[in-house]
Amino acid sequence: MIRVHLRQKRMSMNSDPVKDSLPLRGELLRDEPLARYTSWRVGGPARRLFWPADAADLAAFLRGLDPAEPLLWLGLGSNLLVGDEGFAGTVIRTQGRLNALEHAGQRGVRAEAGVSCARAARFAARLGLAGVEFLAGIPGTLGGALAMNAGAYGGETWGRIARVLTIDRRGVVRERRPADFHVGYRRVQGPPGERFLEAELALEPGDATAGLARIRDLLARRESAQPIGLPSCGSVFRNPPGDYAARLIEAAGLKGLRIGDAQVSEKHANFIVNIGAADAGDIIRLVERVRSEVERASGVRLVPEVCRVGGWES
Ligand SMILES: Cc1cc2nc3c(=O)[nH]c(=O)nc-3n(C[C@H](O)[C@H](O)[C@H](O)COP(=O)(O)OP(=O)(O)OC[C@H]3O[C@@H](n4cnc5c(N)ncnc54)[C@H](O)[C@@H]3O)c2cc1C
Repeated sequence: MIRVHLRQKRMSMNSDPVKDSLPLRGELLRDEPLARYTSWRVGGPARRLFWPADAADLAAFLRGLDPAEPLLWLGLGSNLLVGDEGFAGTVIRTQGRLNALEHAGQRGVRAEAGVSCARAARFAARLGLAGVEFLAGIPGTLGGALAMNAGAYGGETWGRIARVLTIDRRGVVRERRPADFHVGYRRVQGPPGERFLEAELALEPGDATAGLARIRDLLARRESAQPIGLPSCGSVFRNPPGDYAARLIEAAGLKGLRIGDAQVSEKHANFIVNIGAADAGDIIRLVERVRSEVERASGVRLVPEVCRVGGWES
């Protein structure tokens, strides 16, 4: 049976051309506050947010979409800064729905884009497959990790990718290989307009007990070095070549600097934490202040790692 789940209080049933023309099975929400979906807990509303039932539902939705509609892909929002004005387009939310995860071949794991990195890491470790333990502490989805080439403790997402499936905005699905992408430090460039649907991880034989112990060890290291309990987006700036953004921020005397309820973390200077009711404006002003103070103190112009909807000024 085909059903469309709608939150009636926010969605007018007779006013959405996409919903009316398609037998969608996912949820289509209107004027949905994005602060609910971002780890900084800030961001205004999206005109529409689609949470597909599965990949086929997503493809059907994309096929029916106006080609001019602005689209924003959302995983767990752990590296995303949405402004207080929100997003005048459609957000595609993957988390928890593109959620298939399975053993593939002898040393592979196939995971859809909405699978959390933590789940993928533990799943692989329990199978006795080694190589993605580092993903366990990255609080995003596999789709977000592919888009960012997320990494930690010497591991990087694309170092473990055998192949991916992408989908374009017309709903066309393609299989791609790593060679189809330019991959660097927290930077991935692929065929224009294609986004990630799933990936196959290529792993090494290991030992389940040792893999799970390594995950526990990496999580403990994170806990001691990062302000894990407070809303943040992880490291705000990329490390400049040969140096660390956190070192430069600390050396400029900016630890603890506060604008509204946005604060440079006392525990890790490259984190900006929301200590109460910060809005996106507070965070943006603090990011810009840190950039200019660090540049004045050291001559280095830091580049944000966090994705800002609409982009950062260079
Ligand atoms: C406490 C904390 C610690 C962190 N530690 C690390 C770390 O150690 N290493 C690290 O690399 N990062 C770290 N991060 C940042 C963040 O978790 C990663 O960048 C993560 O990969 C983002 O995944 P996400 O699903 O949350 O993506 P989102 O924040 O939702 O999106 C990030 C970008 O990816 C795009 N995107 C999302 N899904 C898809 C898709 N399916 N296809 C194409 N594009 C997509 C979005 O449009 C956006 O441009 C940390 C963040 C926090 C809050």
